[in-house]
Amino acid sequence: MPNLNFSLANALYIHLPFCSSKCPYCDFYSVKYSKQRVDLYWFALFMELEELSQKVNNNLLQTIYIGGGTPSLIEPFYIRELIKKIKKNFKLIPTAEITVEVNPASINEDKIIGLKRAGVNRLSVGIQSFNDQHLDFLGRKSSSEKNKKILTLIDQYFGNYSADLIFALPEQSLNEFADDLETMLSFKPPHISLYNLEIHENTPFYKRYHSGELKLPSEELDAEMYELAVDNLKAADYQHYEISNFSQRGYRARHNYLYWLFEPYLALGPGAAAFDGSCRSQNIADLNQYLDHYNPQKRSFKELISDGAADNSNLFPPNIESKIRTLNCLEPKEKMAEYSFLALRTAQGLFYHKFYSQFKVGVKKVFKEEIEELKSKQLIKEGNERIYLTERGKELANEVFLKFLLD
Ligand code: SF4
Repeated sequence: MPNLNFSLANALYIHLPFCSSKCPYCDFYSVKYSKQRVDLYWFALFMELEELSQKVNNNLLQTIYIGGGTPSLIEPFYIRELIKKIKKNFKLIPTAEITVEVNPASINEDKIIGLKRAGVNRLSVGIQSFNDQHLDFLGRKSSSEKNKKILTLIDQYFGNYSADLIFALPEQSLNEFADDLETMLSFKPPHISLYNLEIHENTPFYKRYHSGELKLPSEELDAEMYELAVDNLKAADYQHYEISNFSQRGYRARHNYLYWLFEPYLALGPGAAAFDGSCRSQNIADLNQYLDHYNPQKRSFKELISDGAADNSNLFPPNIESKIRTLNCLEPKEKMAEYSFLALRTAQGLFYHKFYSQFKVGVKKVFKEEIEELKSKQLIKEGNERIYLTERGKELANEVFLKFLLD
């Protein structure tokens, strides 16, 4: 395996793969939560963190994103120790964004306070809907009332947070989605993410969709919902800075923005993928194999902490050839395609001079026909030495991205 160069990575993603049950639409890697598993996992996570920090120690982290899974199932004590450990082993800018994903079903006021005290400065809450029937359909263990209560609490303790909604659900009407949006806007979250329901392979919804039992709304209704959201959020002074993301001024998701800028990032945990600007290195999506590798003696994290051993920076000998990672390096053309469609996700679009300084060739030379065709279909526009998605292009973004990838 070639040695990847993470020296320019300023973002760190940490995967906490525990959920209380599996939502039928979700294809993220997770296993059933138990306190004992979390404790064994934390020991392993500290080992991987030690190993990573021995390879990459001069990076200046700007963002940390703790996702899952359901991080809010975990006692804030563990998150506090994790942030302490990151601060000890890596350099962080003083204004680093530290986000934790939370689920209304497993968060409460004490945990919110605990996360704030642990050093977390941004929460991302998976609201998904304020309609009890839709929440039930999505397998979410929350309710409309609970979602509202949790948003009120989060707003009380965190100035910076994001809330997610899912739309284009089977049998969801435009009015029902308008109600969800209105309720969401009544809380004025600093950041809102909107996703239409996607059917992923290897999920219960995939089987139901392919057996004809589950029918998604028409493309027209999906587009109408998206347009309604864009109009209402703009009218409420949100900036539509990325296809699925809207923020009040100064509250963009800094961690995700680094992904769209094609910046390298570090990652820890089973299933998590790191990127060095050319190659992705993905940890095995299997908690048992991850534990066998990083915690073969099944040691308890709480014991490690009480030993004081977590402060020892030589817990884990450097491991040169890891068996638990796969590597996928992008071909030059794939790299240019990925760079282009990630930039096109953002409102500013793809600047010609940035593409040139990255690849030493003009984007219009590499993707001449693709750009002309997308312009003629009015999916992208050209202006001020850049291309960017039109409103229609945002609705049909996958079509635009495939054009770059497949040709
Ligand atoms: S709680 Fe989140 S990560 Fe867990 S199954 Fe549901 S959507 Fe997936």
